[in-house]
Amino acid sequence: MTVKPFQAEARRLLDLMINSIYTHKEIFLRELISNASDAIDKIYYKALTDETVSFNKDDYYIRIIPDRRQRTLTIRDTGIGMTKEELGTDLGVIARSGSLAFKQAHESRDGYDLIGQFGVGFYSAFMVADVVTVISRALNSGQAYKWEARGAEGYTIEPCEKEKAGTEIILKLKENTEDERYDEFLEEYRLRELIKKYSDFIRYPIIMKISKTRKKAGSDNEYETYEEDEVINSMVPIWKKNKNELTAADYENFYAEKRYGFDKPLTHLHISAEGTVSYKAILYIPERIPFDYYTREYEKGLELYANGVLVMNKCADLLPDCFSFVKGLVDSEDLSLNISREMLQHDRQLKVIAKNIKNKIKSELENMLRTDREKYETFFRQFGRQLKYGIYSDFGREREFLQDLLLFYSSTEKKLVTLAEYVTRMPAEQKYIYYAAGPSVERIEKLPQTELVADRGFEILYFTEDIDEFAIRMLGAYKEKEFRSVAGGDLGLPESEDRQEEEKSHAALFKEMAEILEGKVNEVRASRRLKNHPVCLASEGELTIEMEKVLSAMPNRPDLKAERILEVNTNHPVFAALGQAFANDTEKFRLYTELLYNQALLIEGLSVEDPLALSEKICRIMV
Ligand code: ADP
Repeated sequence: MTVKPFQAEARRLLDLMINSIYTHKEIFLRELISNASDAIDKIYYKALTDETVSFNKDDYYIRIIPDRRQRTLTIRDTGIGMTKEELGTDLGVIARSGSLAFKQAHESRDGYDLIGQFGVGFYSAFMVADVVTVISRALNSGQAYKWEARGAEGYTIEPCEKEKAGTEIILKLKENTEDERYDEFLEEYRLRELIKKYSDFIRYPIIMKISKTRKKAGSDNEYETYEEDEVINSMVPIWKKNKNELTAADYENFYAEKRYGFDKPLTHLHISAEGTVSYKAILYIPERIPFDYYTREYEKGLELYANGVLVMNKCADLLPDCFSFVKGLVDSEDLSLNISREMLQHDRQLKVIAKNIKNKIKSELENMLRTDREKYETFFRQFGRQLKYGIYSDFGREREFLQDLLLFYSSTEKKLVTLAEYVTRMPAEQKYIYYAAGPSVERIEKLPQTELVADRGFEILYFTEDIDEFAIRMLGAYKEKEFRSVAGGDLGLPESEDRQEEEKSHAALFKEMAEILEGKVNEVRASRRLKNHPVCLASEGELTIEMEKVLSAMPNRPDLKAERILEVNTNHPVFAALGQAFANDTEKFRLYTELLYNQALLIEGLSVEDPLALSEKICRIMV
């Protein structure tokens, strides 16, 4: 019998498979089951158009037969089969679809991953077997053929016996090596697990003989084992079911079954989209943030199914970063024909789906915000930070998309509010949206910088997360209202004339203070925002002191400093004492100035530069 060589490209792919160190060898089973399912589909479609072909559901199935003694695993289907010619052309050369994935596998460094995600069909059998035998009889053909290949050298084809149309693929499993066990593909529970994992929703039954035990007839304590056929896959996926048939518990079970998280889903979306690209999806927003969410280990993505067959575990392209907490899956029939194995064409369709999903998630959140505020706040406490990152990253590309999903604590409402709510409450004379940044609501409440704005009766948003000010800077404005830090320079509040006069009258004193504090503050001035406190720090320009704190805590800290202003409350009794010292006692004036500066640092939550020196100064005024 002559051995026919494989087509050159097929040979290279085979070599890749045979010598694969690829860790996801297990996907071979998915690939072969998918081929079997496709082969049954072909009869199914034929029956739709060809009257001579009938399709009786019960005749169509896929059977998995592990044989420990022979060390073979057989995948048998009752599909359309292959003729002698087809065996040569379909299995001897790379089918069109396979070749593309192969090319890309070679061109990209992540080639092996690509195989895992999209598969290379039939050839993946060579990852686990050294001999692959295919016995096939085409529909309406009287003769069956046996195709066999041992390694990449080539294959043989000869006539053989087979009773009915269909295909049987017999894998002679490789011997175990030190690191790799191939035996596992003969174990019942492992095969069941793989079928459940990858092929649960194949439309035809996947049958396997399962060994079971029962009491022997007529005996109380003797048991016997027997075998029974069992359909391993569930066949109808939950996402293809009608929403009305499903209960909240069904969705929760599925969430747990899929191990999307150890918590419960906060909410789910069941999408059934028809249009340019039709797809179904079940998406979940988790109730609690995964422990590794803000680490490098966390991988976003949705499972991608092509017509019920899992093609990718975590398709990152389907989820925008701002919603990276969403779990779930997408199944599209449009993908199965051209997408499942052809990367390039996926792109456009995947993009359409991704865009659609992004909008659906947003609508779901908006809806929750409108109709179930408490639930939305639960969500926001877990994932609000991610939305803010979403606004900040990519140069603010998503800022408008996300801005209405934000919540901040409000000084007047004493609860979380949206920007829209804030703006509708703004009185006509209020120019800006005011915010104050600090480590907690309690700390911000006590910040002296908030006094003036709060006194005017204006609402202040409290920024308690690192990212807040950065995200808001990216936003710039909301409904044309700019944001202003209460600790910033211009607060847009009308100034009285005597204030300016006062500033002038103290000019010499402030100048002297600024000289004493040289290198520490850029300027000293009379405060317009203080009421009860003697001093505070403020900043001018782009960078606030809060932002500086965040930046300086970063690993490769950029050397950026806020422009610091020391503001002094000229109405405070301390200022009178300061004025006295300025006039009479230079030494005392210096001491007071340094004490006030250190107080401002402490109020701001900054550490004092020299605690010992400060302590010594306090002692000096006490004695
Ligand atoms: P792909 O499935 O991506 O086309 P494969 O390498 O898996 O590539 O298979 C090549 C071709 O071999 C298939 O397109 C199909 O025509 C044929 N084939 C594979 N397995 C079977 C099967 N079980 N029954 C009938 N035809 C099959």
